[in-house]
Amino acid sequence: MAQGQSTADDSGEWDTELTIRVSGATIPDDEQERETILQDLGRQVGRILEENHGIHADDVSGNIGPEYTQIGDDCPVCGHSHVELRDYTYTDNGATASAFCSECRWSGTAIYRLIDYESHRNDDDWRSAVMSGKSSAHRFSY
Ligand SMILES: [Zn+2]
Repeated sequence: MAQGQSTADDSGEWDTELTIRVSGATIPDDEQERETILQDLGRQVGRILEENHGIHADDVSGNIGPEYTQIGDDCPVCGHSHVELRDYTYTDNGATASAFCSECRWSGTAIYRLIDYESHRNDDDWRSAVMSGKSSAHRFSY
């Protein structure tokens, strides 16, 4: 089972995702063993979804470890690249900015939320606080 990422289809709509989370389990460090777990899980979940719900098994993907979600800088209305961002306002967990599309004149608000810390000190040997286990990632639904 390959690591998945959402993609827009031809109509411009995003895939609907279903998340299954396994927490508190002892996951092996060995990369091959991790891949075997993902393949077993994907095969079993895919079989059930395909047989009972008509969802194609090839649409099932998984990942071990923390993930984050990111969007591009394309306009959400017309798709023009590089929405302009300005007038940042900092909040307690991130920032907001005014967003503007020069192509279709759409305007809105960009919302940033703190998702990770990185260390830039030479005596620290970690890059991502979440990946190194120094901070916990919390997941929220829209
Ligand atoms: Zn636009």
